[in-house]
Amino acid sequence: MTQKKRAPVLFVGHGNPMNAIGDNRARSGWQQLARTLEKPRAIAAVSAHWLTQGRRVRTAADNPQIYDMYGFPEALYRVKYAPAGSAQDAERARRLLGAAADNSWGIDHGVWTVLCNLFPAADVPVVTISVDGAAPARAQYEAGQALAALREEGVLILASGNAVHNLGRVDWDMAGGFGWAERFDAEIKKNVLSGNHEAVIGYESLENSRLAVPTAEHFLPLLTALGASAPDDRITVFNDYCELGSMSMTSYLFQ
Ligand code: ZN
Repeated sequence: MTQKKRAPVLFVGHGNPMNAIGDNRARSGWQQLARTLEKPRAIAAVSAHWLTQGRRVRTAADNPQIYDMYGFPEALYRVKYAPAGSAQDAERARRLLGAAADNSWGIDHGVWTVLCNLFPAADVPVVTISVDGAAPARAQYEAGQALAALREEGVLILASGNAVHNLGRVDWDMAGGFGWAERFDAEIKKNVLSGNHEAVIGYESLENSRLAVPTAEHFLPLLTALGASAPDDRITVFNDYCELGSMSMTSYLFQ
């Protein structure tokens, strides 16, 4: 049996920061995924919560943990997750992306809420990468294409956001999603699974996009993940559901 060397790409819907701890559906999905993932040499993590003008890469040897969420229970702030950086992989990512080095940010909750469940020992170095809020959708996809080379070097690419993310419409008592959220999520999923990346890049012309993606930062990491995927990747959908009315947790593994 031949073993593929290429490291996987993940798009993870992170949703509510409380998904990091306790007993919940998202976390169960992450823990289940963790049992099947090989430990990569390093992780390149693109977070919806590091939104910059122009692409940035943290190149320092450390990743200070950022609790960039407010008013949550104390238990969430007790989660410690601060893996090492990798100056060498960061420099490689920075060059591939034509990005600037920026050590003013660290590992934010878009990344650590997920990784503390996927790799709880925090023993895989993480290179954190911002979302370029000034770049068009296609450039987000092209950033993924540029990062794809890292996969051959044993670097897992993690893109963290949410395909549907409308905080203004959140209904905390709602288990599933509003009709428009479910329909938009299903449309995106259909296009991801069929390899119709152009339709996902052109998400703004899809029905319900203004409700599902009122601001782009949580959606754009999905485009970067798609760009980093390869035509012969097997796609696994996990945490395939909407919650709180206006949040999609739908996540994809490409490997
Ligand atoms: Zn978020």
